[in-house]
Amino acid sequence: MTIRLLGLLLFTACKSSQVPVEPPQEPVLVEPVPVDACAALDEAACWDDASCILDASGCHSPVTRCETTFVQGGTSACQSAPGCSLIQEPCFCPPGVTCVCGGGAPPTCVAGVSLTQSPIIWDAQREQLTIVYRAAHQQQGPESADIHPQVIVLHWTAGESFNGAFQTFNPARLGGRAELQGAGALNVSAHFIVEQDGTIHQLLPVTTMARHVIGLNHVSIGIENVGGTDNMPLTEAQVTANVSLIYWLSDEHDITHVIGHHEYQQLEGTPLFDETDDTYRTTKVDPGDVFMRNVRRQISGLRLAP
Ligand SMILES: [Zn+2]
Repeated sequence: MTIRLLGLLLFTACKSSQVPVEPPQEPVLVEPVPVDACAALDEAACWDDASCILDASGCHSPVTRCETTFVQGGTSACQSAPGCSLIQEPCFCPPGVTCVCGGGAPPTCVAGVSLTQSPIIWDAQREQLTIVYRAAHQQQGPESADIHPQVIVLHWTAGESFNGAFQTFNPARLGGRAELQGAGALNVSAHFIVEQDGTIHQLLPVTTMARHVIGLNHVSIGIENVGGTDNMPLTEAQVTANVSLIYWLSDEHDITHVIGHHEYQQLEGTPLFDETDDTYRTTKVDPGDVFMRNVRRQISGLRLAP
């Protein structure tokens, strides 16, 4: 419309000076770019205006953050669609974790994990042993095996195969291990076992209690990693699998802490820790500081406490 009006004015002006001109051409239609009132504001005014968003791309209204694409990988960034006000925003997702953009929200890292279901025995006997264990070890152990997970505890199996670990965890009743027998007949287990190549097996639902860490079983998810011996140290693929799993679990549950098994006594004295027997403590070394450092380096974006 403006171009047509300009043309008409020009035409009229030219006509009045009697100079022959070509007739006005049809205006070219340009896709309208949304006008953003927020973009005209300076930072202080933007801050004061509740209807505007101030971020790395400057001041803008939520509606002008158009659909965005996402890129996967270590230094992924969200990119704006052409004509939109959103500029590149770094996401810094670890490998295997996708940076998701759009909807006006800041970019977030979301893991897609591939799980192999390898359930251990869950029957009436195991459920009953779990309830008995809770009654003995928690101040107010509920009459159920259900948990609300808030902590993720990483372990190593110190064995060299998935099958070995699975066979250890599968029976409902604890076999051998005199140091643990006194604390209850419920067998030890974990929710996940990660193989050396990063394959993730799920053994139990994460809202069902597993016996894998003193004082925290009722609030924690246990992830075992095959290996940890001198012959078979934990691998980079296991770090990546643990990171993806932690991202995914944090997305689905109210996770506040990620710890190594060897760090469990650091949570003693917090509301999370509940163990009625003050003498029941074992010293752990798994999965070690190196593995925890490698995992924590890649989950810093989740802001989880150690
Ligand atoms: Zn452990």
